[in-house]
Amino acid sequence: MIEQYGWSDALSRAFEPHAREGLIPGRIVVQHRESYLVATDEGELRGKPSGRLLHEAREAGHPAVGDWVALALNLVERTATIHAILPRRTTFVRRAADSVQTLQVIAANIDVAFVVTSMNADLNPRRIERYLAAAWQSGARPVVVLTKSDLCVDPQAQAAEIAALAAGCPVLMVSARQGVGLDELLAQVAPGETCVLIGSSGVGKSTLVNAFLGEERMATQAIRESDDQGRHTTSHRQLVLLPGGGLILDTPGIREVGLIDADEGLGVVFDDIESLIQDCRFNDCGHANEPGCAVRGALKSGALDPARWANFQKLGLELAAVEEKADRVAKDAERRRLAALQKTYRASKRNLRGD
Ligand code: GDP
Ligand code: ZN
Repeated sequence: MIEQYGWSDALSRAFEPHAREGLIPGRIVVQHRESYLVATDEGELRGKPSGRLLHEAREAGHPAVGDWVALALNLVERTATIHAILPRRTTFVRRAADSVQTLQVIAANIDVAFVVTSMNADLNPRRIERYLAAAWQSGARPVVVLTKSDLCVDPQAQAAEIAALAAGCPVLMVSARQGVGLDELLAQVAPGETCVLIGSSGVGKSTLVNAFLGEERMATQAIRESDDQGRHTTSHRQLVLLPGGGLILDTPGIREVGLIDADEGLGVVFDDIESLIQDCRFNDCGHANEPGCAVRGALKSGALDPARWANFQKLGLELAAVEEKADRVAKDAERRRLAALQKTYRASKRNLRGD
């Protein structure tokens, strides 16, 4: 059962300490405000974090959809207590809605990020770059998906244009309407791997999910009717098995994932600009009026698109600000950790003294 959700030897090894405590592994498939639905070898269970995990969550963050967790089961009530989150391979994060400082994980352990954009008039290369940066930063493999190829007169030309800025990641064309290209898309997600669709509203993400799950969803309903476990799964599932053995994670949060802390990701998306900067004569070239500036040279010769350069600079500024914030968050967490340690230390001294 959990093998379907991508359970692996590596996860087994990471789980060993929890197994020794008698805990059971599971993967979060739905996140509610106060509870979770967790897929386990015992079926799907309603899960809540332990008091201790909730306490730690103030700094370490809450479990998210896609997380692998360690559970204590209550099979009579079909509930589970979440005691720990296994280390995440990849994460999509955003600033928490209630605080500019806290980063919130909105999806964990994603292998493939489909950056979805439609081939009709509103194609926006700058926006694709932003989504690509978010994808790289998460640790997932980005794949660009150009939808609605049926609406485009020269899809190949558009695909070539996008491929030029997608820096080596695959670019696929689909038409959900005509049923073209869907298998090639599914083939990007190996059995046990999890994908997400990110991209602006209206580009055709829901239509793609429906096209993938058309049959699967009916099967799921049939299973529900014959199985009283169905009563527990009234909510919309967020992590769903795909035909072909992969999984798709689809929540409103992941769809609109923005750009955050994407420094490394940007390097890959803008690797042509990065290498230009390497060629500037001065290491600290500001690309303004320094002699021997390769960036200005490329702008002048037309080798570098001014809009791309402007976008790179704009993102760079944003990233610096975000990094500074992340740094502050880390320092605050460390300060609180030390304060907590000191409190425990004082308490244990009091205990030793017997007062
Ligand atoms: P989302 O906001 O990204 O989830 O986009 P939707 O899936 O809701 O699609 C937005 C609109 O695009 C809907 O009217 C769809 O019917 C239409 N659409 C989606 N896929 C295709 C396609 O392959 N071809 C055409 N012509 N229209 C499509
Ligand atoms: Zn320069």
